[in-house]
Amino acid sequence: KKSIHRICSGQVITDIASAVKELVENSLDAGATNIEIRFKHYGLDTIEVVDNGNGISSDDHACIAKKYYTSKLNEFEDLSKLGTFGFRGEALSSLCALSDLQVSTATAQETPKGHSLTFNHEGDLVKHAVVPFQKGTMITVQNIFSTLPVRRKHLERNYKKEYSKALVLLQMYAVVSVNKRILVYHQPKGGGRQLQLSSNKNPSMLKNIMNVFGTKVSSSLTAWNDDFINGYISRPQIAGIKSSSEGQMLFLNGRPITHPKVHRLIMEVYRSFSVNQSPFFAVNLVLPEDYCKKFAIRYSLCDQTEYSLSQAKPYTPKVLQKP
Ligand code: ADP
Ligand code: MG
Repeated sequence: KKSIHRICSGQVITDIASAVKELVENSLDAGATNIEIRFKHYGLDTIEVVDNGNGISSDDHACIAKKYYTSKLNEFEDLSKLGTFGFRGEALSSLCALSDLQVSTATAQETPKGHSLTFNHEGDLVKHAVVPFQKGTMITVQNIFSTLPVRRKHLERNYKKEYSKALVLLQMYAVVSVNKRILVYHQPKGGGRQLQLSSNKNPSMLKNIMNVFGTKVSSSLTAWNDDFINGYISRPQIAGIKSSSEGQMLFLNGRPITHPKVHRLIMEVYRSFSVNQSPFFAVNLVLPEDYCKKFAIRYSLCDQTEYSLSQAKPYTPKVLQKP
């Protein structure tokens, strides 16, 4: 039974990027305006997400890492929504099954006191201590995939690539998160702390782009605003922009997505105007929720993490290929 839980968890959390995505989304859900993501040795040793959100109330301490536990009751009211974002109540329990999980948290009422919580692989709260802590939550994931040796081996062989996938995702959050501060630190083995990317608490996406990609990119952009689009795309006449898929970002209602069709459309329109160049773009599609459902827009944030927004199909995890 234990191993079944681990295998299922391995389909919720497939890689470092999906772990990071779940943690950051939890911070955003908790109303955080300040989120710090800290990696030790490319996330192989530690992935830590610290936020200034609402914290976890003590009633919830013992349950948060239980399977299907969620405190986000309002989301249950709309059952169709429950199916859309998927994984409800599965992230922390899966991370527990796959790693060593430690949580520190304090609510506004409790701070400057807070709690340090340790969970075992089954999601049971096994240690509790009262500690000084600022309002917010810190989740520390150590030795990810240590309970799935084959996956761990795969990660150890590809850790730089896996780490950069997580960074690309974080770049997207940093670009789209207006009025939020997102910082990423990386501490390589034996080395000092490095800041990888930051987006200031800025009131505009353009400023975020500047912070994440530099002024050379941000000054080459033109605003793209339409009924249901807001964003930026690089001007075709500007040469010499180093473009890669890294600088091509799509969002749906402020959440990172991949959408091959829309992506291709943007590329085609761009190429019809321009030299043989790839654009930089950061485009947020602003669509009503039911419209998203009708067109079954996929929320695909990491390669294997797909959400179907079509009402008819609840999310079913893809069976992973053996690495
Ligand atoms: P879900 O997000 O679907 O509710 P998770 O497994 O991701 O499920 O999280 C379980 C619960 O843990 C959440 O419902 C929430 O109560 C709590 N939680 C997790 N991360 C945070 C955070 N950063 N701040 C506040 N509460 C959190
Ligand atoms: Mg969650």
